[in-house]
Amino acid sequence: MEVKADVCVVGGGILGLSCAYLALKESKKEVVILEKEEEVGLHQSSRNSGVVHSGIYYPPDSYKARFCLKGKKLLKEFCTKENIPLVKRGKLIVASSEDDFPAFYKLKEYAEKNGIVVFELNSKEAKEVEPYVKCIKALHLPEVEVVNFSDVVLKLAERVAEFGGEILKGRKAEKVSKSSQEIVIECSGGVTVRAKKVISCAGLQSDRVAALFGWKSSVRIIPFKGIYYKLKEEWKHLCRGLIYPTPKLSLPFLGIHLTRTALEEVK
Ligand SMILES: Cc1cc2nc3c(=O)[nH]c(=O)nc-3n(C[C@H](O)[C@H](O)[C@H](O)COP(=O)(O)OP(=O)(O)OC[C@H]3O[C@@H](n4cnc5c(N)ncnc54)[C@H](O)[C@@H]3O)c2cc1C
Repeated sequence: MEVKADVCVVGGGILGLSCAYLALKESKKEVVILEKEEEVGLHQSSRNSGVVHSGIYYPPDSYKARFCLKGKKLLKEFCTKENIPLVKRGKLIVASSEDDFPAFYKLKEYAEKNGIVVFELNSKEAKEVEPYVKCIKALHLPEVEVVNFSDVVLKLAERVAEFGGEILKGRKAEKVSKSSQEIVIECSGGVTVRAKKVISCAGLQSDRVAALFGWKSSVRIIPFKGIYYKLKEEWKHLCRGLIYPTPKLSLPFLGIHLTRTALEEVK
């Protein structure tokens, strides 16, 4: 089978679907999405904490801060328009000892500069927000919301199909050749896609997909495995919203955290 399109998106996670959605909605392009799994959004996009990140972790005016703040606005607009529930939970970032203070106050500064509502609480005030928390200080971000990102993924896929986009599931981009006219992508299952432009949104396999295009770099994805535990019903009252430690800012992790999801699970 051969498919022609203006734009081919590799990867049917939230990013690939969002790119396809915008390309269809705003540029009226012919779009095809390649997803190697039998369904969209089976990887990170449906296996996360479901937090609409505020932007507190990112240095003001950095790409991360700008993308996070803009993404938050776009996500909220999309969810509101599509009736996908956004649940305001509020978030506490706790300092357990004075060793946390440099990062703690750096985050407070980031929040203020990024225009995020933030309050510095003492241990007693923190307990009014989260009665079972023990800390010496906390940053309270009352506006932070959660969403079920699987709902967002499925709605995006629905809209992409409605706008005439084609989602080819179970099709892995395996081989690429380029000419001045087009990019040819050979996929699993004997499908060939001919496109003018390709957008790679392959998540944790982005480096592999980039290599198919001849991209040579020492940069590569280093995967880390994360594990979620769900609190049993009788322990759920221990966490009302989102409770996070003060992270080590030199590492790209947020630390072990508790999240009350949009589906009222506590993970
Ligand atoms: C544990 C964890 C918790 C997180 N918590 C949050 C949170 O609370 N809030 C938040 O905003 N973000 C969170 N994130 C980050 C967020 O989930 C990701 O940034 C987002 O889902 C990335 O989406 P994506 O579409 O880029 O990747 P993915 O969802 O991984 O999608 C990539 C897709 O590409 C497909 N693919 C790969 N290679 C090929 C190929 N060769 N051909 C065809 N298809 C291919 C894959 O099958 C996959 O479906 C979390 C991430 C993790 C891991």
